[in-house]
Amino acid sequence: MWHCEISCYSPPPEEVRTRPQKTPPKASFERRGRGGQTFLTTPSAHAEVASQRFLDAQPPLLWRRGIAACVTIMCLTLMLIEPGCTTTSRPEPDPAPGIALTLATQRAQTINNLRYELSFDIRAAASEPVQGRAAIRFARTNNDQPLVLDFAPGAESLTSVSTNGKSSQFRSVNGHIVIPAAELSAGLNTVEIAFRAGDASLNRNPDFMYSLFVPARAHLAFPCFDQPDLKARFSLTLNTPSDWVSVSNGAELSRESSGQRLKIRYAETEPIPTYLFAFAAGKFQVETAERNGRTMRMFHRETDAEKVQRNRDAVFDLHASSLAWLEKYTGIPYAFGKFDFVLIPSFQFGGMEHPGAIFYNAASILMEKSATENQMLNRASTIAHESSHMWFGDLVTMRWFNDVWMKEVFANFMAAKIVNPAFPNVNHELRFLLSNYPAAYSVDRTQGTHPIRQELENLNEAGSLYGAIIYEKAPIVMRQLERILGPEQLQQGLQTYLKQFQFGNATWLDLVHLLDERTALDLAAWSRAWVEEAGRPSVRAEVQGRNIVFTQPDARWIQQIDVLIGSTKGLRTVPVQLQKEKTEIDSDTAPQFVLPTGGGVAYGNFTLDEASRAFLLKHLPELNDPLTRGAAWVTLWEELLDRRVQPQEFMDLALRALPRENTEQNVQLILGYAGRTFWSFLSDKARATVAPKLEQTLRSGIAQASSSTMKATYFSAFRSSVTTPEGVAFLERVWRRQEKIPGLMLSEPDEAAMALELAVRSVPSTPAILEQQRGRFMNPDRKARFEFVMPALSGDPAVRDKFFESLSDVRNRRREPWVAEGLAYLNHPLRRPQSEKYLRPALELLREVQRTGDIFFPTNWTYATLGGHNSQSAAETVKGFLAEQKDYPIRLRRVILQSADELFRAEAMQNPQDHDRLRSRS
Ligand SMILES: [Zn+2]
Repeated sequence: MWHCEISCYSPPPEEVRTRPQKTPPKASFERRGRGGQTFLTTPSAHAEVASQRFLDAQPPLLWRRGIAACVTIMCLTLMLIEPGCTTTSRPEPDPAPGIALTLATQRAQTINNLRYELSFDIRAAASEPVQGRAAIRFARTNNDQPLVLDFAPGAESLTSVSTNGKSSQFRSVNGHIVIPAAELSAGLNTVEIAFRAGDASLNRNPDFMYSLFVPARAHLAFPCFDQPDLKARFSLTLNTPSDWVSVSNGAELSRESSGQRLKIRYAETEPIPTYLFAFAAGKFQVETAERNGRTMRMFHRETDAEKVQRNRDAVFDLHASSLAWLEKYTGIPYAFGKFDFVLIPSFQFGGMEHPGAIFYNAASILMEKSATENQMLNRASTIAHESSHMWFGDLVTMRWFNDVWMKEVFANFMAAKIVNPAFPNVNHELRFLLSNYPAAYSVDRTQGTHPIRQELENLNEAGSLYGAIIYEKAPIVMRQLERILGPEQLQQGLQTYLKQFQFGNATWLDLVHLLDERTALDLAAWSRAWVEEAGRPSVRAEVQGRNIVFTQPDARWIQQIDVLIGSTKGLRTVPVQLQKEKTEIDSDTAPQFVLPTGGGVAYGNFTLDEASRAFLLKHLPELNDPLTRGAAWVTLWEELLDRRVQPQEFMDLALRALPRENTEQNVQLILGYAGRTFWSFLSDKARATVAPKLEQTLRSGIAQASSSTMKATYFSAFRSSVTTPEGVAFLERVWRRQEKIPGLMLSEPDEAAMALELAVRSVPSTPAILEQQRGRFMNPDRKARFEFVMPALSGDPAVRDKFFESLSDVRNRRREPWVAEGLAYLNHPLRRPQSEKYLRPALELLREVQRTGDIFFPTNWTYATLGGHNSQSAAETVKGFLAEQKDYPIRLRRVILQSADELFRAEAMQNPQDHDRLRSRS
């Protein structure tokens, strides 16, 4: 589980891109370097996997590259007769910045038996540089090309470079060290480098430091081949202050003290990629425990000893039970020897799966006394997730980061199996539905969607792969896979996969190939539709007497769904395999309604039949099962967006349903949908009409909610949708602390949000409210954020304009969540007419926002800008912008299309005639 920073380099030139193609198996391996040389090698396990990047891998394979493909085939033919066939080398271009796929492919094919001996000299003061030495040993099968190592700090951080004992005539180019081919031999080589380590991935703090090298950040610290499919054995020596402790992937071998310094040597690791190599050093406490014959250590910096004691046994137990479960499921013992984990304050992710030394965010592992069941579930899931990675990701690693989704999905999938039975009070099916389907649809229904498996030309763009399609759609697809195969076949297939590729790399298609043998279904075709291509199926349900007919215009989509059928006899769930254009089932009696998504499984855009839609719009709240209700809401929302349900009917249903709904997750879902309908899809007149009823429903929800979290959910919905004078006056009294809501504790961020909501409603005392709120803050960070956002809420348009203009300066965009909040208020639905003028310049800034911001910022920037708008002119501004930008970067175009989707739909709802005319024309 992780999310990374992006650095902004341009992708490598088009002509050097690898174009994998299917070819028939050949009797011998043929591998080639960039210059066109061809040579034969004996097959080895490494070569076998190395030749399969992105392929559906029927080893051994012939690789072709771009324009040189025909030369290769000719040489292969000649080779069978005349082994001396070569072509002329052309001069090598400089390696591109980052880690280009072409470079990685070439290296994976020519480098093997890789070992790193690394030593780092770390001083207590974070300002003092870390000095390092690396001895990189490897065999190389192509000696005509220069050797390219990755080292971002560049020439000024290099003290010496020698190749096979002689000083090297290397070049330092674009974050790489290029060593002339002539210095390398055909057999084993050693490159020795003394360097000053870059700090960018070493997270240096006053009393501790830790490395975090995912996805390709090892070369920001030390010279290496920074790609996932050059697994290596790492031997580490750390030289630290004598009062520090340290931990790495390998077990401690020896320690030597001299004066104020301590030198620790660690055992050589099993083969692991650079992104999994890790070490942490500093002032840590260590807890040790034994479970199932295995000694485990927990490193932490928690000063509350009681808190550590309260949590430690549970944390060790959760690791032990996860490991035991995984060993049983996979049939493979834990492969990395010792087992430690490190709790790091303010760690970037929930956890990071370094084998032998998992890193966690301390706050998610050491729970407060008041922890809720949900927090306990999250902790158990995080531990099971990272433990699962020891097999899925660490033992078998993706070949390239385009398959990073795979290890994440498997880790979550295993974690759910490990953890869920221990939490019987949680409705896990509903939790899965609501945490995955709405988010996945929010991208997959748009014109900006993309496949789960995307192309990735350079690891410096790895960050841009992340989003709802990987995090939310992929788990749904994985669950489908288990349904297709059955749990036993999937388990056996995964066991084979892990054994076959252990300590190596594999692609998604390698796994598909293995699993394909275990089902009558064409799994490769299934994978193409669900994983390699974008979008979702459109399925129409029709009832003809007792028959239910499902039609989908596109027959690529295969899925097994649980259809809910309601009749006078009661409810029934029928498993159906959707395949081909038409699937027909015979229901015993004429159904009252049919809900194809009723089992919480089906994925796609489902068009209900007229009678079922009418039934659900009337009777949804009466359905007994919370999962069925959740699934029905998700389906009706899609129907609303596609104009098969009117916004007014949807709103009426929500207002009738809320007082009856007792499942908190469903309440949150309905409130979210109701808010979006209210602001985006109802006309101004309809909004004014429904407002009193909405506010009344929300206020009685606040009053009657059974838990404090449910109360808070209702209150925040009220705060953001209140519009009537009485409602706004009530909000103001609560903010002024003149009126208390029994059972609801309002925190500093709650009061700040209330002040901002009052301001955007232009209550008469706005300036005084904002000023007074400013004075209320105890927390300086929250105060600074509030002060930043304040001008976006000014009643004076000139002040708001100035706020917007200030965002064109990158220095004013550093606090990205603050910027997004300011933009969202600036473009609030109540400010639509005045803020439309910001749309175009905000879109024009987007490329720069991407260049200078964190990976999720372009999406947040665009959503914050467009989210409040729903007019035809706003939609036309966005469409006009996109039409003008001919060479706009594809990933950014997708971001705009995703963010503008509801705006386009809102516009279509207001002008249905225009759109239907356009539709029928196209
Ligand atoms: Zn993970």
